[in-house]
Amino acid sequence: MKESERFVIGFKGLSLGEHVFEYQIDADFFTRMKNEELQDGDVQVKVFVEKSERLLSVRVESKGVLNTHCDRCLGDLKVPVDISEQVYVKFGDETREEADNVLIIADSSPQYDMSRMINEMLLLAKPMKAVHSQIGDDVCEASMIRKMEEYSEKREVDPRWAALQGIKDKLSNK
Ligand SMILES: [Zn+2]
Repeated sequence: MKESERFVIGFKGLSLGEHVFEYQIDADFFTRMKNEELQDGDVQVKVFVEKSERLLSVRVESKGVLNTHCDRCLGDLKVPVDISEQVYVKFGDETREEADNVLIIADSSPQYDMSRMINEMLLLAKPMKAVHSQIGDDVCEASMIRKMEEYSEKREVDPRWAALQGIKDKLSNK
């Protein structure tokens, strides 16, 4: 079975009861998903499917680290991930997300590729601003910070530009 096919779960064909699917998320996964924000990591994902006569519920647990870059010094940064999400699956005319935690799967093609959902969850797990904690050896690269400070000093607002901006503001307040 191809790695990408492992993520496809045939929900309709599953027997009643609990099923567990396990995935290892790494650089290959993010490359396949064309994820530009996340390129590397080491995350264990477990998908628990609970199927009863009346309900199909899916819990996705992700634990590990995402390798990203610090928004302050641009150096390598590891962001811990420990998330759990619950989704309910229903069958309908077409595959779509009905609400945040309700997934409709087309009756005609009753399987679902979990890789998209996992990819989105990991993207959301990454903080908007990811920076080194400055604790222990999780610190910013000092040389990079110095370089950026020098750069931003050079870009201090030009007085002529500030004057123009003042005129523009006045015009737009009319
Ligand atoms: Zn940093």
